[in-house]
Amino acid sequence: MSDKRQKDTRHTLAQLTDQCVKCGLCLPACPTFQITDNEAASPRGRVVLAEGIVGTEADNASRLHSLAGHIDDCLQCQACESVCPSEVQLSEIIRLSRQFLPETPARRLTRRMTATLHSRWRRRLLAAVLYVVQKNRLAPWLKPLLPVTLQRGLQHTLPVPLGPLASAPATGWFPHPSKGSRAKTVGILSGCSAELHDAINLPAVVQLLHAAGFNAWIPPKQNCCGALAHHHGENIHALTQTNARAFSNPPENTQLTTVVVLNTGCSAHLEALTKKKKTQTVYEDVMRFLSRHRHQLRFTPSTETVFAHRPCTQQHGLAADADQSMLHLLNQVPGLTVLTAATGCCGAAGNYYLTQPQMSDALAQQWHAAITPLQPDRVLSPNIGCSMQWHELDSGIPVEHPVAFLARQLETRTAGT
Ligand code: SF4
Ligand code: SF4
Repeated sequence: MSDKRQKDTRHTLAQLTDQCVKCGLCLPACPTFQITDNEAASPRGRVVLAEGIVGTEADNASRLHSLAGHIDDCLQCQACESVCPSEVQLSEIIRLSRQFLPETPARRLTRRMTATLHSRWRRRLLAAVLYVVQKNRLAPWLKPLLPVTLQRGLQHTLPVPLGPLASAPATGWFPHPSKGSRAKTVGILSGCSAELHDAINLPAVVQLLHAAGFNAWIPPKQNCCGALAHHHGENIHALTQTNARAFSNPPENTQLTTVVVLNTGCSAHLEALTKKKKTQTVYEDVMRFLSRHRHQLRFTPSTETVFAHRPCTQQHGLAADADQSMLHLLNQVPGLTVLTAATGCCGAAGNYYLTQPQMSDALAQQWHAAITPLQPDRVLSPNIGCSMQWHELDSGIPVEHPVAFLARQLETRTAGT
């Protein structure tokens, strides 16, 4: 970081931490404080640590190292921001603080992960390797040969059904079946997760958009949204520009209404960029967009009981109406019983499950214990990280993205077609 940038970042960080009046109202909301009962692992404690970082010279590595622990084990779940009367932006404080912290194995791992997620060929290679390992059940032989972190990564990734490269997400133009180019167009951000885990959900989004009366467009030259890198203080300007270019010219001169985003981690990040006008593309969470157009959708009845999981990024990261949008949509399905409950954070949180395994496991167990006694037929989660965490817990209860469930329930003839 240049001296000027460092000075500016310190100044912003000092302004953000000054907003905290140390009232402590946020403490009960913080998942890491609930587990540890340790003030330093609370939002207020982390503000104090960030104040220490502001007042520490950049070359004082040992002091910075001593301040890093509870900055690193913050989930950036924003639960504290939802209850803070002074509107302290803890997530931003953590993001800026991390830019001053010395190199550790966890930070190196994060950089390697983000480099993989930001490169299409590396993602494809990873997807291909994981597919071969999963299909041939090679994990028991492979795991003992890997370092502990990669073993854990494999354990987290493999329970999710993976597709071969041939079934990598279809990109392209999907005009509305009857209105064609007279309909407005909605872009779909497939991002990095679609190539690894979410490919199955893209056709479901296309179906739902058609049913709501829109063209769907998945441009091939898009990339990862950069949410994980952004949370760790990396510069993601190039990615933002790549995606802005990819969505700049919708086919057949149609009007691009918005770009919908499947995962709440990505949509919270991109909606924030849209709000701050840091991108010329207008992004919207897919659940919120479909909920706004739900009266166009007709669903067949279901006798199932589903648990509607509300990820932290949906409850605290996205604007308040987004948290209700999934419930509004599911309530359109006749006969469906929709359960929800306060479950706390699942502990996946980007790559937190790799960098903070003990805290992640403790949170996952609490989360699991809050949902399983309700015995739903399936869990619906609009976040791939939480879904992977659920798969790994191996409860016997299936999990999927709500768009997959809703697309299956669509009536063949809907108001939009
Ligand atoms: S972050 Fe907000 S709620 Fe927490 S101590 Fe500071 S002012 Fe109070
Ligand atoms: S972002 Fe989440 S983990 Fe971090 S201090 Fe706030 S409530 Fe605690």
